[in-house]
Amino acid sequence: MKHKVTLIPGDGIGPEISRATKMALEATGVSIEWETVHAGSDVMDQYNGNPLPDKVLESIRKNKVAIKGPITTPVGKGFRSVNVALRKALNLYACVRPCKTYPGVRSKYQDIDLVIIRENTEDLYAGIEFKQGEENTLKLIQMANQMKKVTISEDTGISLKIISVSATERIVHYAFQYARDNNRQKVTIIHKANILKYSDGLFLKVARQVGKQYPDIEMEDRIVDNICMQLVQKPELYDVLVLPNLYGDIISDLGAGLVGGLGVAPGANIGDGLAVFEPTHGSAPKYKGMNKINPMAMMLSGMMMLRYLKEQEAADRLERAIATVIREGKKVTYDLRPDLDKQKAASTTDVAEAVIEALETR
Ligand code: NAD
Repeated sequence: MKHKVTLIPGDGIGPEISRATKMALEATGVSIEWETVHAGSDVMDQYNGNPLPDKVLESIRKNKVAIKGPITTPVGKGFRSVNVALRKALNLYACVRPCKTYPGVRSKYQDIDLVIIRENTEDLYAGIEFKQGEENTLKLIQMANQMKKVTISEDTGISLKIISVSATERIVHYAFQYARDNNRQKVTIIHKANILKYSDGLFLKVARQVGKQYPDIEMEDRIVDNICMQLVQKPELYDVLVLPNLYGDIISDLGAGLVGGLGVAPGANIGDGLAVFEPTHGSAPKYKGMNKINPMAMMLSGMMMLRYLKEQEAADRLERAIATVIREGKKVTYDLRPDLDKQKAASTTDVAEAVIEALETR
């Protein structure tokens, strides 16, 4: 069966790793009809300043499945994140980020096999912000000062942390169902409910209620600062983690660090009947066009996409081929070399060719 897939190359290093990933996916023999559409700052002029053209959303809604390279978000100014807007527009509420060690990666740890399930639509990422000095911000400050008998100063900027019962139920059900479907034993709920009583406190309360509906899966919870230490000291104790949006973002990079870095950390954004696969890492602008960056995180996201498309055998072969290239250590980018030597390292294209060769010789 031919699968129709939307490809969003992204910007920065996005186009290079997208090309390498497309080559590897095609070499699996799975029949894919690609529809390539573009988003990000590079297309803004073409679409009246819109970095996320309707064409992109229409293509994903039509094809139901997309794979995407990273897209740059300007810091503190300019447009809001295209990545966040896309997840919100398509209601891709679950971000799934497996963190698994492949023998041969540069890591202090072995045999890690964690899955991070991050809520993707609310929390501080909801984008409800009040700029310092604006009229509405001053009104909000006055109101909060009166209602809560506090003294927030007028030179304050405010970002709202939004946590709802419905979005929490949805993500926690997803996490427990994921655990059940993937033979996982335990779900750990991450929060800061001791301090943020009405946002994280609500997340924890609702998550515990949902977890009780899955008696076959063990449930526990950890405070977010504590889980950072626990994951560094004894990551083997954890299995599936479910987190509100911001902690999920931060812990994803910690998880990537445990398993050898962002170059091998894949991800998926899943909604009802729609999915967008993308690596955890960003657009690494300083490496743009240099053909040096590791395409494996996006290739592994492609492997997750094949599983989602029920192409299990091809997904297994692609994962084994990537694992072989990592284990052999000859054709790997700088980030996977013990000496980090950029001169001796393989290029992005070399890695794609090595993965394809490993696919063909199996
Ligand atoms: P980044 O992930 O782009 O890169 C940080 C560093 O990690 C790089 O300089 C590089 O040393 C290393 N790295 C990242 N990907 C790698 C790879 N595939 N192989 C080898 N090394 C790799 O993070 P950043 O510099 O904080 O963000 C750059 C831009 O990307 C920002 O505008 C940010 O908003 C955006 N971003 C986009 C997404 C997304 O599209 N989903 C995700 C995260 C960040």
